[in-house]
Amino acid sequence: MREENGIAWNLLGPTSVLVGMEPHEDLPEALHRCAALSDEELLAGLAASAEDERRAQSALIALLAEFDARKLFTEEGFPSLYAYCTEKLGYSGGEAAWRMHTARAVRRFPEVLGLLERGETHMGAVVTLGPLMTQDNHERLLKEARGKNRRELDFMVASLLTPPASTPAPEGEPASAAPPPPPGIRDRIEPLSADWVRLSFVTGAGFLSLLDRGRDLLRRKHPSGRMGEVLAEGLDALLDGKDPDRKTPARPVEGPPDHKRRIPQWVKDEVWKRDGGRCTFVAGDGRRCAETGGLEYDHLIPWALGGPSNDPRNIRLLCRAHNQALARKAFGGGS
Ligand SMILES: [Zn+2]
Repeated sequence: MREENGIAWNLLGPTSVLVGMEPHEDLPEALHRCAALSDEELLAGLAASAEDERRAQSALIALLAEFDARKLFTEEGFPSLYAYCTEKLGYSGGEAAWRMHTARAVRRFPEVLGLLERGETHMGAVVTLGPLMTQDNHERLLKEARGKNRRELDFMVASLLTPPASTPAPEGEPASAAPPPPPGIRDRIEPLSADWVRLSFVTGAGFLSLLDRGRDLLRRKHPSGRMGEVLAEGLDALLDGKDPDRKTPARPVEGPPDHKRRIPQWVKDEVWKRDGGRCTFVAGDGRRCAETGGLEYDHLIPWALGGPSNDPRNIRLLCRAHNQALARKAFGGGS
């Protein structure tokens, strides 16, 4: 039993029940107990369980590293550590590979274990950077990798593999001009079926910010954010504006019967700029929501209660989740 934020952790029993350290017939019971927790207890419980999980995971990695060093899996009748992890310990292929590569990295760099346990790095970073880590660089690399997502880690690896060319820009050209694409890589169109093709092309890394922005803006229409859908929308919009063969149908005359509720475009533009194109929800600890996709314009004073639509001060940007959560709070309704 543990005291944390004044909450005694006898509510769920030992958190290891939830972390899965031992099979337990009371597990469904734990779900019922979770449902009975207050929000505060739930938050504290999650933080404590994540810490427990990191601790348990680090212990597992240490055991695996030793198990691997002794090659005990062979004595147990398995051809590899991977086979032991999947067939005996019940991990999926991906889970087994992550644990195995992490254990091997820990054997080379024992201090990684402490970083994992303290949450200062994660298995994703260790596995991605493992092949590039040396005695000299591993601390710096893991530090740089903190807080990076999958794509950013891949970029980190790519930049480590190909140091930037230091050729000065030719006279008269801006130094910031993007380098030419790698030679020998050509655009490719590969038919997959009568209806589908796969496109591959190489482009500058700056393209990704365009793609991310397009995804964000189209999130409601294309929740999956598939590149093909986003690019098709973009090309459609381009051709609508530029292609003389396309006749742009006249847009319907603005507005549903009730003009007051609709937020005028100039207000939307101003609010978007003011809020930085990002959800404005701020949590109790001062952390602002970072969502930039699928944003909605929300009335601070609800329109139904007389809040104006044509005053930017009464409008703010919210992500869908926060808009719904605040509406639930304001109007009381259930789920
Ligand atoms: Zn939000």
